[in-house]
Amino acid sequence: MKIQEADAKSLMLAQGLPVPAWEVARTPQEVRAAAERFLAAGAGRVVVKAQVLVGGRGKAGGVKLAGTPAEAEEVGSRIIGMDIKGITVRKVLVAAAAEIVKEYYLGAILDRVSRRIVLMASAEGGVEIEEVARQNPEAIHRVAADPQLGLLAFQARGLGLAIGLRDPVLNPFVAIARGLYATMTANDADLVEVNPLAVVAESGPDGKVRQRLVCLDAKITLDDSGLARHRNHEALRDLDEEDPADARARDLGINFIHLEGTIGCMVNGAGLAMTTMDLVKHYGGEPANFLDVGGGARHETVRDAMELILADPNVKAILVNIFGGITRGDEVAAGLIEARAKQARAVPMVVRIVGTNAAEAARLLREANLETAASLDEAAEKAVALAKGASR
Ligand code: GDP
Ligand code: MN
Repeated sequence: MKIQEADAKSLMLAQGLPVPAWEVARTPQEVRAAAERFLAAGAGRVVVKAQVLVGGRGKAGGVKLAGTPAEAEEVGSRIIGMDIKGITVRKVLVAAAAEIVKEYYLGAILDRVSRRIVLMASAEGGVEIEEVARQNPEAIHRVAADPQLGLLAFQARGLGLAIGLRDPVLNPFVAIARGLYATMTANDADLVEVNPLAVVAESGPDGKVRQRLVCLDAKITLDDSGLARHRNHEALRDLDEEDPADARARDLGINFIHLEGTIGCMVNGAGLAMTTMDLVKHYGGEPANFLDVGGGARHETVRDAMELILADPNVKAILVNIFGGITRGDEVAAGLIEARAKQARAVPMVVRIVGTNAAEAARLLREANLETAASLDEAAEKAVALAKGASR
């Protein structure tokens, strides 16, 4: 699960990372009010940043500076409502603008190959790290943390030295790198990224300018499998940006993944669902989704799953593949018939049900005039033909 920059910053702040104060605003007037507070507190300028779950906001015009409350309001009105990579901006982060001396990259990822948390750093910060990896891979330095000992200070220091950091920002870098590691483990994150991690110039109370390392941007991806261990994380889910089908599937307790094809699949069991998708592809079709109704699905679940599949306008045919064990075939057939009666769109469907109560299911399906198949091969082949026929 991706979370917004402002939420990522909260999680980082909780681990003691240096994150400049911010406010979230949803209207240009709120942007103005927030800007007034930062400017009154001594900021020279404020930065207004689109809160969307995609990178490259700066390049897309979603990050802008403003020197007065009026200018902040104007900038806010331009960013709120803006479209960034297909997502409408609904809220912005407002903060005192930093005076950047140099931008670095620092990220922690879960490396599934080495089964360790790996810290990555680069002196080429501010730009997308994928771009650096392509153009100049040796500019990215890495170190793997030990699962028992964590990221040790000497490892973090080595990383800081590798990207050219020296006193007085080297020790703060060590603390930040270890803070990133702590943010990963405390939240069961897959990714914690700070880009840019910036050296900024700040004038202290004595008027002297000093340099400091701060986390200007924050990106965190949480491991979905770890969400149950962190009850507070559910509140960080941004429903504004979630695919409505995904949200509906979660509410229904159905494992559903939206894909690009035309054949809607309803299957019980994850392995069988994968096999079904393979066969659809084998016969020249493209699955529109992965859908596992789970074991022991009742007719209501089948009906709801059908609605979920039909909500996708790309779906041209539906393939139902049920292997009855705990799941009863007649129960599924009843759900299909129920869904069929309510169906707004005429989409052809082919059903294969074997196992528990298959005979009863076959009778119900026959009476309801639903197309059936005896084998999975036959079902997949028929579904592909139906989808092709429908698109002609
Ligand atoms: P991203 O483009 O989505 O990664 O958004 P960032 O938060 O990283 O902002 C993009 C760029 O805007 C940064 O690399 C900085 O160059 C610039 N930027 C962000 N915050 C500030 C700030 O407080 N002051 C200044 N001067 N520039 C900033
Ligand atoms: Mn960034």
